[in-house]
Amino acid sequence: MFNLILFGPPGSGKGTQSEKLVDKYGLVHLSTGNLLREEIANKTPLGLEAKAFIDKGQLVPDEVVIGMVDSFFEHHKDAKGFLFDGFPRTAAQAVALDKLLELKKTEIAAVLALEVGEEELVKRLLNRGKTSGRSDDSDEDVIRKRFNVYMTETSAVGDHYKKARKFQNIKGEGSVSDIFNSLSDSIDKKMKKNA
Ligand code: ADP
Repeated sequence: MFNLILFGPPGSGKGTQSEKLVDKYGLVHLSTGNLLREEIANKTPLGLEAKAFIDKGQLVPDEVVIGMVDSFFEHHKDAKGFLFDGFPRTAAQAVALDKLLELKKTEIAAVLALEVGEEELVKRLLNRGKTSGRSDDSDEDVIRKRFNVYMTETSAVGDHYKKARKFQNIKGEGSVSDIFNSLSDSIDKKMKKNA
């Protein structure tokens, strides 16, 4: 298996690039944000619980998210690899993910982190909010709160994978296709090494 984490702050382009990368490399896309929004749309108990956190710009509790990922794995047993997008978002989630992958006799091959300046991020998110119907993208206070959470809780995920020497920064500003090419170059190199 080849498993990749696409990392970076809200609005850094993880969703856009993930769609293209899973197509190119035949990986299964695991976006916890998308899974949570599906639960909300289906008005499940998990969705109702999650919505309260998401609307405030807070993280959904670790055990909820980890349970969701575990059950996603159960439904994708024949995947040849996963692309994780928006997960892990806390140190505890990173540890849980490493353990779940170990059970599957595999591991994270690389963490690619999209780097984008904060003002560009706010601009992108407010723009997305105009068309996506995502309430968490329409309010600048909620957006700033999410950056705060990223700095205080999610940056630990970067540290976790830096220690494991799996972390790499990628410039996340420029055209979608230029960024896609940079990501593809890194992935191709990693795949060659792992082959
Ligand atoms: P973005 O990267 O733009 O913030 P996502 O779609 O990844 O968007 O996530 C939207 C919201 O869903 C987050 O602000 C958070 O509340 C919740 N969420 C998504 N993934 C996780 C996760 N792994 N752990 C906790 N909360 C999550």
